[in-house]
Amino acid sequence: MSLSDQDVIRFSRHIILPEVGGRGQKRLKEASVLVAGLGASGSAAALYLAAAGVGGLTLWDPGVVTPQDLQGAIAHDWSRIGLPRARSAAVPLRAIYPENRMDVLEREADLLGDLPAHNVVVLSAGNWAELGPAAVRGGASAVFCGAHGADGAVTVVTPGSPCLGCLGAEQASLLGLFPDHGGIAAAAGVVGVMAATEAIKLILGVGTPLAGRVMRYNGWDCRFEEASFGAREGCACWHG
Ligand SMILES: [Zn+2]
Repeated sequence: MSLSDQDVIRFSRHIILPEVGGRGQKRLKEASVLVAGLGASGSAAALYLAAAGVGGLTLWDPGVVTPQDLQGAIAHDWSRIGLPRARSAAVPLRAIYPENRMDVLEREADLLGDLPAHNVVVLSAGNWAELGPAAVRGGASAVFCGAHGADGAVTVVTPGSPCLGCLGAEQASLLGLFPDHGGIAAAAGVVGVMAATEAIKLILGVGTPLAGRVMRYNGWDCRFEEASFGAREGCACWHG
């Protein structure tokens, strides 16, 4: 798959970077990323991934767009209240990058079988304990992000890295399987944008992925805290 003349103009601010170049932009165009969850953080991640020229995006979310979503799930608008969130989010994403090969999954059962077709899965919803290991077994990397209040957290699991099951209780609570309660969506957007950045780095093969680390964002105090974790003996990912 080659870059079109329009791609070369459009992504010139990527292409001039030594970390990306034409080869990296082509990688982004050829890549497929699955975004599970199109709330505040998933919307932010998906919009940035489309804008970055990720050529294949698969969207999944079990919910429909509600008025409350419009406080921060920025892929939706009033005209799409009541539509499935994944279908709603596909509208602006297609408008941002019309060449995107976009796919919308309606059922959670479809997710598992579809995971191996992706380079990266960005999970802000769904059954993490099931989806994360399945993605990594299929050779994909998984980026997890969650937010609640004005706090959020992100971590990455790649094939061979410590997995979510390796997290201690305290670290797991840092990442949190945050309940869908109140939240400052702009703070959730911070972790969504971090998740998109991790996905882009993983596709390009540059930088240091956030694997074996949880990065927590405390929006009320504007602080980032990092906690490292290693493979836990006895965990399903443990290789001795
Ligand atoms: Zn593990």
